[in-house]
Amino acid sequence: MSMEQWIFSSFYLAFVAVLSIIRWPYHKRNKQNKIVQDQKTAQEKGLLFGAWLGTMLLPLLYVFTPLLGFADYLLPVWTQSAGMLIMVPSLWLFYRSHKDLGYNWSPTLEVRQDHTLVTAGIYKSIRHPMYTSIWLWVIAQPLLLPNYMAGLAGVVAFGLLYFLRIGKEEQMMIRQFGQQYKDYMTQTNRLIPKFDR
Ligand code: SAH
Repeated sequence: MSMEQWIFSSFYLAFVAVLSIIRWPYHKRNKQNKIVQDQKTAQEKGLLFGAWLGTMLLPLLYVFTPLLGFADYLLPVWTQSAGMLIMVPSLWLFYRSHKDLGYNWSPTLEVRQDHTLVTAGIYKSIRHPMYTSIWLWVIAQPLLLPNYMAGLAGVVAFGLLYFLRIGKEEQMMIRQFGQQYKDYMTQTNRLIPKFDR
């Protein structure tokens, strides 16, 4: 691996480390939550595992072993710099969405006891800012890690998770919050802010 590529790879790993640190306290608290609606199916667990594989395990194998060397491609340095720029809004959205969701955060589809519907802060105009943040992450990934396996696995795995989960998540929220969530849906977009109100 070239010197420049080491730098970009290190940035990717540092980025993932910071995201994990942001999430850690919410993860710990989530374990204490009493769950009243559990939609954590085998499919959901498989998709979560795939996302972990695609965004963490394969990048680690790419950086620290020669196993994925066959799948390398070349990118101009500016695209890799663009990847680093994309990480900035991704990190910020990741942080803000965790902070605003607070105890309501969960790695999967579930509603906790005392769940409240969050419609303020970053959730005021975007319904799924955490997913926006993760989309930005998996778009940055193939720019920073020029390897067909380690770079593209994230967007494939998260893409699957997102498209198979999003409808179910909104159905679950409607079951829980009824008209309140339906109204909230009209005031927001899924991934990009809605301003025309
Ligand atoms: N889809 C959201 C949240 C991801 S975490 C986002 O991208 O920002 C997934 C959990 O968050 C779900 O299990 C659901 O219980 C909860 N959730 C999603 N939207 C919410 C909201 N507006 N208020 C409170 N909880 C929410």
